[in-house]
Amino acid sequence: MSVFSHPEFDNHEQLAFFCDEETGLKAIIAVHNTNLGPALGGCRMWEYASDEEALCDVLRLSKGMTYKSALANLKLGGGKSVIIGDPRKHKTEELLAAMGRFLERTGGQYIAAEDSGTSVPDLQVMNRFTENVAGVTERTGIDGLPCNGDPSPATAYGTFIGLKTAVKHKLGRDDLTGLKVAIQGVGNVGYRLAKHLKYAGAELFVTDIHEESVQLAVTELGATAVPQSEILSLDVDVLAPCALGAVLNDVSIPQIKAKVVAGASNNQLAHPRHDQLLMDHGILYAPDYVLNAGGIIDVYYERVGHEHEKVRAHIETIADTLEEIFKRSDASGRPTGQIADELAEERFMK
Ligand code: NAD
Repeated sequence: MSVFSHPEFDNHEQLAFFCDEETGLKAIIAVHNTNLGPALGGCRMWEYASDEEALCDVLRLSKGMTYKSALANLKLGGGKSVIIGDPRKHKTEELLAAMGRFLERTGGQYIAAEDSGTSVPDLQVMNRFTENVAGVTERTGIDGLPCNGDPSPATAYGTFIGLKTAVKHKLGRDDLTGLKVAIQGVGNVGYRLAKHLKYAGAELFVTDIHEESVQLAVTELGATAVPQSEILSLDVDVLAPCALGAVLNDVSIPQIKAKVVAGASNNQLAHPRHDQLLMDHGILYAPDYVLNAGGIIDVYYERVGHEHEKVRAHIETIADTLEEIFKRSDASGRPTGQIADELAEERFMK
């Protein structure tokens, strides 16, 4: 397994492999860049098919965090960790404790947060052994309500701010009354995004693989249920992917009728070149990692002193960053995804 010559290595500052025989823990911590501050990123637990697959995932994800935090104007670098194993079968308190002890040994260069396969209670177990975890304390959420550490309300609010900015830029409207929005996935983030849009007067079309989630949006928010196979090609103003990655690809893009794509799910572009394809089809793509940064902003404030008004105001700066990206894209004729990456590099490479 190559490391320094790995295609995803991209000059990572630090890569640590941990093994604890007693608990069966096998983990990798990747720190991509700490120019702006300590690396913060999720700790994912996943049953990877091979060590190579785990390495590839952690390298790709930690680099993504450098870009996300830089564009969110946070004094944070990018990092990520992965625990190799099935969270339903292999996750034990002892294993999480061992992970906590490993996190302590990184000396604060990497701070872990929840991710796929880990939860706030899991991070709380790690927190018994290290301060190098985030998103674990009860606090007032951005809506002023008690929050157990779940970043979804902040992520949904940031996505809403980004969606409004993109709509204003592409469709020239501030008022969302009657705006047709298709949401793919009404889970933690998608449902909350739908709520913001509903209050702003938008008309909602939703789909999900879980029928109960769809029904909740239909009964509580007056949304129209749409079959999964139709959501991407619906005749709407905005498409908001909030479920899974790689939904913007060679097959889907020619079918998209929405003029704006603005959603929360990670890695929406199947390949970086798909932002050019979206542009060629006259679709404005609001880069996913700019829109979904609300969660990391929320977690950051837990470390520096959490005041929900400040968090809210910081999340609203997502609009300024997006405007800058759209302006540069218009001026250069280049797609928004490329511009976002360049702007991030300007910020963290300074
Ligand atoms: P979630 O699991 O709560 O919600 C995702 C929803 O999508 C679920 O209801 C699921 O049933 C549905 N879904 C899955 N596959 C689908 C499909 N093929 N078609 C339609 N629906 C489908 O997850 P979440 O926390 O709401 O996150 C949504 C996305 O946003 C993910 O990509 C996540 O990585 C990203 N994200 C989330 C946060 C956060 O704070 N939760 C932060 C940044 C990015």
